[in-house]
Amino acid sequence: MSAPAAKPADQGSLFGLQDLPTPTRAEATSRIDELRRELEHHSYLYYAKDAPSISDAAYDSLMRELITLETEYPDLITPNSPTQRVGTTPDSQFASVEHAAKMYSLDNAMDLGELDAWMQRTTDALGHEPRFIAELKIDGSSIALTYRHGELIRAATRGDGRVGEDVTANIRTVRDVPLRLRSGLLASQAEIEVRGEVYLPKASFERINEAQEVASKPTFANPRNAAAGSLRQKDPAVTASRDLATFMYARSGDGEALAFETLATQHDFLATLTEAGFHVNPDVKICGSPVEVRAFCEKALTDRFDLPYEIDGVVVKVDDFAAQAVLGSTMRAPRWAIAYKFPPEEKTTVLRDIVVQVGRTGVLTPVAEFDPVTVAGSTIARATLHNAGEVRRKGVLIGDTIIVRKAGDVIPEVVGPVEGLRTGAERVFEMPATCPSCGAEVFHEEGEVALRCENITCPAQRFERLRHWTSRGAADIEGLGPEIITLLIEAGLVRDIADFYRLDYDDLVAVKTGRVLKDGTQQTFSPKNAAKLLEAIEGSVQAPFAKLLFGLGIRQVGARTAEDLTHRFGSIQALAAASADELSAVEGVGPVVANTIRDFFSVPANRELIDRLLACGVVLQREGGAQDLAGPGPLTGLTFVLTGALETMTRDEAGAALRALGAKTAGSVSKKTSYVVAGADAGSKYTKAVELGVPVLDEAQLQQILADPNADA
Ligand code: AMP
Ligand code: ZN
Repeated sequence: MSAPAAKPADQGSLFGLQDLPTPTRAEATSRIDELRRELEHHSYLYYAKDAPSISDAAYDSLMRELITLETEYPDLITPNSPTQRVGTTPDSQFASVEHAAKMYSLDNAMDLGELDAWMQRTTDALGHEPRFIAELKIDGSSIALTYRHGELIRAATRGDGRVGEDVTANIRTVRDVPLRLRSGLLASQAEIEVRGEVYLPKASFERINEAQEVASKPTFANPRNAAAGSLRQKDPAVTASRDLATFMYARSGDGEALAFETLATQHDFLATLTEAGFHVNPDVKICGSPVEVRAFCEKALTDRFDLPYEIDGVVVKVDDFAAQAVLGSTMRAPRWAIAYKFPPEEKTTVLRDIVVQVGRTGVLTPVAEFDPVTVAGSTIARATLHNAGEVRRKGVLIGDTIIVRKAGDVIPEVVGPVEGLRTGAERVFEMPATCPSCGAEVFHEEGEVALRCENITCPAQRFERLRHWTSRGAADIEGLGPEIITLLIEAGLVRDIADFYRLDYDDLVAVKTGRVLKDGTQQTFSPKNAAKLLEAIEGSVQAPFAKLLFGLGIRQVGARTAEDLTHRFGSIQALAAASADELSAVEGVGPVVANTIRDFFSVPANRELIDRLLACGVVLQREGGAQDLAGPGPLTGLTFVLTGALETMTRDEAGAALRALGAKTAGSVSKKTSYVVAGADAGSKYTKAVELGVPVLDEAQLQQILADPNADA
């Protein structure tokens, strides 16, 4: 440690005391350097080693001295001085950063069985059982830090893996990120990139949400979102106030990044990271066998609630870098690592009520309302119960203590009641005989489980139809959310989707938001928001026909069917004129769907609505018109099954592209399947394909086929 002994007071400490003469420039320069080293050292002991050797007050005092000197000689301030952690405002938006080596995602193992299968696969591929290293999977946001000659020069988010955002100014405020590396292997590299996770400790998460609530600002759903949000603040001072922290754990890329020859394993690398001053999670285990890996996962599963930060699983990696290089990566994830995801967390709470919601097509859905509970990192208080049959099957009574969880760690779900806790005061839920929105009698349609309100003027349905039209998968009108839609309905400006296109500026600025101002008048729409909204609405007339068709909300016509229909019938006119037979000839459209489509166009009010949309300039035709598939395409005769998430397109888009070339797409793998295209998180379909010997393609191979479908497979 190069810290100087404190200067004795009788020599006249020049520093920090106001009345004393200002130090010379030369004196200040050397003292500043000493102070920075000393502060960095203590910061390292505090954050990386978790073993502070001086009190916070002493640390602050050193910091104040440095600030005083830098204030005196501002030209001596460097961006990596510890005083700069509060940062300065970057010019505007975040610049984008192209990652030199792609930032991969991880493949998942949803249970220990899948984890075992992965360990077996790696063993088979390597020809011997490798040593594994198990690390906690931190639930935060990925970050890449670049150091040039030991100085932090850039921090970037993962973004889509290829291009992320430059968040350097914000990362500088994160206290456990070394701005300069401690001398050693990493500091001596001309340039290195280190990767890890930025996260928000649980306590900070709660504190921030309380503050957000007090300020009437939206709260964050979970620490992961809060971390990502805090990192992407325009003002680094806000980021600084958020108490973000990091755990670093990775090199950039794989294989070729073996630039530091002396490092042979992940565990060596982690040690090197610690030496360089990074914060490295101590809960790491080198495992000599799959049994040890499993034991670590099981322990993490119970220990996780005691950790001060959220984890959502365990990342198991092949420890040896050379073995990692042999295994390589797929388009989206390394083959030498896997994320074992924890099974969903369950909680108990009290079911206060079951309310009934009316959807866009009039379907009545029972929704459970319960006392708020935190499950898998976020607070939930409602969950859909789907239909009356489901309520019966689950056997829940109003007033029951119930078990809730999140399906796929996202969607709240009621598991069932804790029957032993019943008091006798519980009530049986019954579906209403009339619509809770309009009071009309509700019907049970033949062959359907759902109850439906058939009143086309039902306010709840109208609202949901409007909302559906503006949603992402449809016209995608930004800024036209549920609150605004409600205001527009209340102001009498909007009754159906065509009305959106007749709104004008004067209408909008007169809309009262319901918020009462200090002078007792009601706040109205701001001119700026009105202009923005009009622009967004205007832009939506050019949205892809398939999305607009989906937005019309024809029963049973989902996003994919809409896509297929627009390929076959290039315009709304052609679609409206199509016979039931012509409709049934389209893939995914059976006689039932064909009839619903015919029914839709036979209702005069619907035809009128479409005419009004066309009159307002909404483009209801496909760019390039219909794609006639009467003749065979280059892929005719082949059947594809798509599984997992693709990176460059959605599965629906990929399916539509394949079908446009004459291929068939199917939902499940069988002997008749020609190819399975496996994206990220491919699960049982992938396994099935391997079992049946069906060839599996990755995304790159799919793209090759799409680009050149006539080439031999
Ligand atoms: P997911 O985003 O759920 O697909 O999981 C992949 C992400 O887990 C990676 O991109 C990392 O940001 C994150 N992660 C958290 N902890 C670790 C760790 N110890 N090793 C590797 N990745 C991790
Ligand atoms: Zn109704």
